[in-house]
Amino acid sequence: MTSTGNHIRDVIIIGSGPAGYTAALYTARAQLSPLVFAGSLLVGGALTTTTEVENYPGFPEGILGPDLMDRMRAQSERFGADIIDDDITAVNLTGTIKTVTDSTGTKHHARTVIVATGSQHRTLGLPREDTLSGRGVSSCATCDGFFFKGRDIAVVGGGDTAMEEATFLTRYANSVTIIHRRDTLRASKVMQERARAHPDITFAWNSEVTELHGDNHLTSLTLRNTQTGEHHPLPVTGLFIAIGHNPRTHLFKDQLDLDDAGYIQVQTPTTHTSIPGVFAAGDAVDHTYRQAITAAATGCAAALDTERHLTHHP
Ligand code: FAD
Repeated sequence: MTSTGNHIRDVIIIGSGPAGYTAALYTARAQLSPLVFAGSLLVGGALTTTTEVENYPGFPEGILGPDLMDRMRAQSERFGADIIDDDITAVNLTGTIKTVTDSTGTKHHARTVIVATGSQHRTLGLPREDTLSGRGVSSCATCDGFFFKGRDIAVVGGGDTAMEEATFLTRYANSVTIIHRRDTLRASKVMQERARAHPDITFAWNSEVTELHGDNHLTSLTLRNTQTGEHHPLPVTGLFIAIGHNPRTHLFKDQLDLDDAGYIQVQTPTTHTSIPGVFAAGDAVDHTYRQAITAAATGCAAALDTERHLTHHP
């Protein structure tokens, strides 16, 4: 293992989504010379996996997700953020000097750390799922519902999120089919009743998706009945996967307080975690809003909390 020696930064940021880059922008402009670990597989975060983003303010014509993230990166670099496209593989956050270790074994030290590692939506694990993501397959009704005006679409899942997304999507879609593996739902009674009562929502009970069809865009699904084993087609051109998210917080589980689902707990409305000098922002904290703008907003808050912490603990 190597070490960057005695050089102690003011702040290290882990993550390069909207939360991480916004924290980098603010801390860089505050002369804190942030060091950002962008990750190796998802540099720029979740928005690099999508096409059009139409709901990020300031882009009236919309902007491609990867372009938006390139701009955020360039903006933080313009003010002096150092960005390394590598993963942090270990952290020691206790004590006044925090240490993070990158994938080469090099240790980096800082007085504060901002965690902005995001969350990963659960996938169905089907062969064409990645290819068709953003091309009919989505994990976010708020983000993509607008693109499905007048279409026949489906939502997979049986919890509150699935019911909420299905009900929301009826604003745009011609019809919504909720696909659920069992014949009872996990969702709360009120959410279930709202979905069940909606004239544009039907249920495919005891069903799971086994195939996604379409070259450049989803054209239909194959469903399997979990009781009879029979397969049948479902002619929908949109599929929303609403089976939950996994926050990327395993690195922190023995050090930071997490909730039962693994999200980092912060002292709302601040971004302070359970360890002084460690702040958390974005989808690694948020299981409610999960938007680029809310992630950016909490990234800003984490930067301001960091500045204040460093002022009081010089
Ligand atoms: P992420 O963007 O998830 O970034 C997390 C970062 O952490 C990544 O850079 C990753 O590399 C890094 N990381 C993780 N672990 C480590 C580690 N150990 N070491 C170093 N780095 C690490 N929102 C909208 O507002 N509008 C939309 O149109 C929209 N469309 C979307 C489409 C898709 C397909 C998806 C998946 C999401 C979409 N969202 C949209 C949601 C939005 O992308 C997220 O809410 C937002 O990106 C969360 O930002 P974040 O910074 O918290 O995390």
